[in-house]
Amino acid sequence: MSTSTRSAFDEVNEKVSQAGAILGLKDGVVQALQQCEREVVVSIPLRRGDDIEVLTGYRVQHSSARGPRKGGIRFHQDVDLDEVRALASLMTWKTALIDVPFGGAKGGVTVDASTLTDLEREEIIRRWTRSIHHVLGHQRDIPAPDMGTDARTMAWLMDEFHRLEGFQPACVTGKPVELFGAPGREEATGRGVAMIAAATLEQHREKVKGARVAIQGFGNVGKFTALVCQELGFKVIALADVSGGIIDRNGIDVEEIMKYRMIRDVPSYDKTNSAEVLEQRCEVLIPAALGGVITNANADQINADYIVEGANQPTTADADWMLRGKGSVIVPDILANAGGVMGSYFEWTQNIQQYSWPIDKFRRELDSRMSRAFEDVFKEAKSHSIDLRTAAFVLAVKRVAAAYALRGSLV
Ligand code: NAD
Repeated sequence: MSTSTRSAFDEVNEKVSQAGAILGLKDGVVQALQQCEREVVVSIPLRRGDDIEVLTGYRVQHSSARGPRKGGIRFHQDVDLDEVRALASLMTWKTALIDVPFGGAKGGVTVDASTLTDLEREEIIRRWTRSIHHVLGHQRDIPAPDMGTDARTMAWLMDEFHRLEGFQPACVTGKPVELFGAPGREEATGRGVAMIAAATLEQHREKVKGARVAIQGFGNVGKFTALVCQELGFKVIALADVSGGIIDRNGIDVEEIMKYRMIRDVPSYDKTNSAEVLEQRCEVLIPAALGGVITNANADQINADYIVEGANQPTTADADWMLRGKGSVIVPDILANAGGVMGSYFEWTQNIQQYSWPIDKFRRELDSRMSRAFEDVFKEAKSHSIDLRTAAFVLAVKRVAAAYALRGSLV
């Protein structure tokens, strides 16, 4: 967890201010871009045993300047309004950066997902959907999975939405393939992270084959990142999830590990823990679990040449500054993990057209559009002599500010 005194939302807004200053935007315009358009907070009473537990649910819509708002829904015990605002804002910058016709939003429910039965999970997402369906829809705001939610959760969300608003499969993405999901979407975030990691090494004239990678998080993002990294020739030397970590400097067999529910159940390999995975000597470190895991308290112990942010906001602003001072290159979340929302965009368009792409086309389009975004960010960084995170924000803020101005929302 972050030891910074700035909140997660403050940290995103600092980057927006910085980008605004580089672009010469007026203060009022920057402030307008920093604010969230709408925030909905709902209570979710959940039957548990013979009593009721009242949970809190959120949907924050940050921006619709470039299209319907888009963003995941997270079930986690640390979810609060500030975190949801930060993540909603990041979605605005991410969708602009990869140039898909969406704005930004995020949702969440403050609950420890690991304690939920399937029935409880279903009750929560149905209640969340019923409470806020008036602000959702395929042209308004389109949720997707995030930490603690998955394709199954999105199927229940879609079903509940259909009961209230009629058939509209594009109202949510990340659905099961059997129920209007797109083959390729589930792996898209991890695939994008791995492709961006490889592209970063190549850009710095380093070999991908045999490059050591350590990954924290082994859920949707971490698993597919590890798998595709292995396919690309990386050597995955350390992996962790919430239950523990494993390490093998000769390389872990990722497919083998995928057979186990939790990393602590894996019988082979030396054991380590989640914090130590972050500190391994490696070429590429990929935090792919929680936010705020690389802070000024552990930045000195990070031993990676490249940090590719699979998770959202894994590096605090202080740690970012310290690591860059040590010579590490940080590929920011809004670029590195944007394969997920790129994949969601493909699913949304297919649902609207009632037409399904084969997985090869999905992967080709994903790879080509992620490479384009990667090149755009590197060019921007070079032309302004700035780091990659600042460059990504400059590009994204430029596009959103232009949309605002053209819509006439700002005078
Ligand atoms: P998930 O729920 O599928 O997996 C989360 C993983 O993190 C699990 O393996 C869990 O055990 C692990 N974890 C939790 N606490 C941990 C800890 N203290 N130490 C080590 N591991 C821990 O979630 P996900 O969808 O893979 O999301 C992971 C991150 O990626 C989040 O920051 C999310 O916002 C971001 N992200 C997800 C997507 C997506 O498409 N799912 C897209 C973009 C960004």
